[in-house]
Amino acid sequence: MTSNRSVAVIGAGLAGLSCASALQQAGLQVTVFDKSRGAGGRMSTRRGDGWQCDHGAQYFTASHPDFRQEVARWERAGVAARWAPVVHLIDGDGNREMDVRNERFVGVPAMSAPALHLALDLNVCGGAAITGLARAGDGWRLRTALPGYADTGFDMVLLALPAPQTAALLREAAPAQAALAERAEMFGCWAMMLRYDAPLALGFDAAFVQQGPLRWIARDSSKPGRSGPETWLLHASPEWSQAHLEDDPGVVGVTLLEAFRALDGPAPQAWTAHRWRYASTWPGSTAPYLWVPEHGLGMCGDWLAGGTVEAAWLSGRALAASVRGHLVASSNSTAEARQRKAEGGHCR
Ligand code: FAD
Repeated sequence: MTSNRSVAVIGAGLAGLSCASALQQAGLQVTVFDKSRGAGGRMSTRRGDGWQCDHGAQYFTASHPDFRQEVARWERAGVAARWAPVVHLIDGDGNREMDVRNERFVGVPAMSAPALHLALDLNVCGGAAITGLARAGDGWRLRTALPGYADTGFDMVLLALPAPQTAALLREAAPAQAALAERAEMFGCWAMMLRYDAPLALGFDAAFVQQGPLRWIARDSSKPGRSGPETWLLHASPEWSQAHLEDDPGVVGVTLLEAFRALDGPAPQAWTAHRWRYASTWPGSTAPYLWVPEHGLGMCGDWLAGGTVEAAWLSGRALAASVRGHLVASSNSTAEARQRKAEGGHCR
């Protein structure tokens, strides 16, 4: 029914991968493009000389039954596990209390593992930045420097990118959809990866912080399956990060280490700063995905659905279900038209 339809999914974060795998299972010919070499997007892990650290998404929750089932599959495959850290809430006056609210999961042995697992069964082209999109007949043509794909046409194109990158790609080809993406707000985040020679005794594995520039601290080494030296991660707040987005990483690093020191965090042996230009989001739309059947154009991603790993996965699945529904409906109506024609009732 659908096997001859080709789909380009742009973005190999969790939204793109969940969408692509559902469509491939439905029999479509799916190619996933990502500008980075590996899959995972913001579910990512930085590796250095003998160390590793999740510097994007820190953990995920699984509330929706479909996502819980997916996480259970990842647990069985050994690419995700529960993380049960001691979590403190540190308020503006420095008061601390325990946070026992959430069941938390992480990728194993690194946050990128579930995405890499999903990518195994897909045709994912890494190092393939898409720089332009154009309608071509009933389908689409993508502009990319990736050898062999310069002139490939696709019946459908599905964007699984942060909102500003979605807007930039659609501005000429689909201005109405680009305008929707432009309305979604996304905020940056400065991340700091700290390495130590020996474990720290701060009394917590992670903390939500409500004072100064920091919002989140985590002992990456406390996550299951991690190896290498003692590693901690600091995230600055969206407000502070956005105000300092263009600052020099060295200056940012010194400020965030000072804030960590105020919470009893000692100076690390080594550290690395990373700037996320598009980290968190407030959805600019009430629908968790967008599908324009007459153009064979779709969009999914956390910015449409709520800004979390779970929301990104659900958004990709919801878009895939809509595309499949559309293809089934159009194949049924084609079959009915053929039937009517065969019965001679279609014209006068
Ligand atoms: P992404 O993961 O951003 O994937 C988009 C992909 O598109 C990327 O791989 C990118 O390389 C690719 N791309 C972009 N432009 C192009 C182009 N032109 N051509 C080709 N490819 C392109 N969520 C949680 O649930 N819990 C957390 O603790 C948490 N903490 C976070 C902390 C930080 C610092 C950050 C950055 C995010 C955090 N999140 C957290 C959010 C979570 O990571 C995201 O909601 C989720 O990973 C988004 O997935 P996505 O597929 O929508 O987008």
